[in-house]
Amino acid sequence: MSDIIRKIRGTEDILPKDSYRWQFLEGIMTSRAAAYGYKEVRTPVFEQTSLFQRGVGETTDVVQKEMYTFSTKGDDSITLRPEGTAGVARAFLEHGVYNDGLPSKQYYLTTCYRYEKPQAGRQREFHQFGVEIFGTQDPAADAEVICMIDGLFKQLGLDKIRLEINSIGCPECRAAYHARLKEYFEQYIDRLCGDCKGRLERNPMRIIDCKVPDCKEIAKNAPRMLDYLCDECKEHFESVKQYLDTAGVAYEINPSIVRGLDYYTKTVFEFVSDSIGAQGTVCGGGRYDGLIEELGGSHTPSLGCAMGIERLLLLMENSGIEIPKPETADLYIASMGDSARLKAFALAEQARSCGCSAQCDIVGRGLRPQMKYADKIGAKFSMVIGDNEIATGKAEVKNMQTGDKTEVSLENFAGEFSSLMIQRLAENIANM
Ligand code: ATP
Ligand code: MG
Repeated sequence: MSDIIRKIRGTEDILPKDSYRWQFLEGIMTSRAAAYGYKEVRTPVFEQTSLFQRGVGETTDVVQKEMYTFSTKGDDSITLRPEGTAGVARAFLEHGVYNDGLPSKQYYLTTCYRYEKPQAGRQREFHQFGVEIFGTQDPAADAEVICMIDGLFKQLGLDKIRLEINSIGCPECRAAYHARLKEYFEQYIDRLCGDCKGRLERNPMRIIDCKVPDCKEIAKNAPRMLDYLCDECKEHFESVKQYLDTAGVAYEINPSIVRGLDYYTKTVFEFVSDSIGAQGTVCGGGRYDGLIEELGGSHTPSLGCAMGIERLLLLMENSGIEIPKPETADLYIASMGDSARLKAFALAEQARSCGCSAQCDIVGRGLRPQMKYADKIGAKFSMVIGDNEIATGKAEVKNMQTGDKTEVSLENFAGEFSSLMIQRLAENIANM
């Protein structure tokens, strides 16, 4: 085992015994997205590097430090997607998706790649569920996105998650704020980390997002964007809150949320948990009214958010919420002898054709190990085919839960086995 090839640091395998947990969450996310009218979008895993430089922003940590960027044989610079929004926005423009009607509501389930220090809740390849709405500046859209995520947490039984919201204004009101913020941080320039010294010139708001303890301490008393909002941004924020109140969604105002992307405007929000350690933000998002223009399109106010699925799973585990394990097989058909083996193979196909999951021996085991395997896979029913069953055209199906046996005709096997399945389901429901 010592010289087998191992996975790359910061990546994880999702093994067959665990994938049902992912499928469960993906199912809930997909049906929740459909309830709000989102359609799925899938974009390539790599894009031109310039897309992320423009779409995520040159001054962000993601672009400055975290991207996996490569040169192609033709000397183009390409980057593995560090987040979902830029690619979705590019596709929206490139294919004129706005012609299909606005608002355009889209969701994605995708992998992302960031060069970061791997730790609990922080990987180099990770998964996101994200939604985007293009073409509306109405505060009801902001509230609708937030409600959709809030409801998803509630549906999963996660009630100890905090929703924090803020407004970071628009380019007009932010200019005055930036000037004020720069003045404030300049007083502490000697104590700021090297990154923040650079941020002071390029984008002082980024300092508020810095995770270095000293910078965090200084940022605590920094001027708040909320006190500098123009009338329009103020009204927009008030309205978002009103819609959330009306929907019964609880929130806290956190003036220090600025988010990692450069093109966020107005509403920004995070869903945060205290029970998964330092990487507590499970979902983050906001409005990005300037993004589509930045990518060469016409003014298209838009918004979205993304949730980290690894962090969501961690949160569910730490909250003691179990994901129901699916049963793997409805039926196992064991066999003895060559002609019985052929018959078992055909019967398994018949059971599958009427929607049941069925397995038979494809290894060449004896009867005892076959039955052991039926137990191991948790088959609901089992049945043994031998010469006698072939001769009489009848066999006994055993309910593995109760031990009850029922005779079925091999001729009309699919129909009779289906009835047994329905009967078992009805009994289980009655006993619930
Ligand atoms: P953080 O502040 O934790 O680095 P972020 O602001 O960089 O998060 P976003 O770009 O907003 O994160 O991504 C949205 C969500 O994706 C995060 O809230 C988190 O749940 C998840 N996420 C981000 N980076 C990682 C990562 N390296 N590994 C696992 N999940 C991640
Ligand atoms: Mg990050």
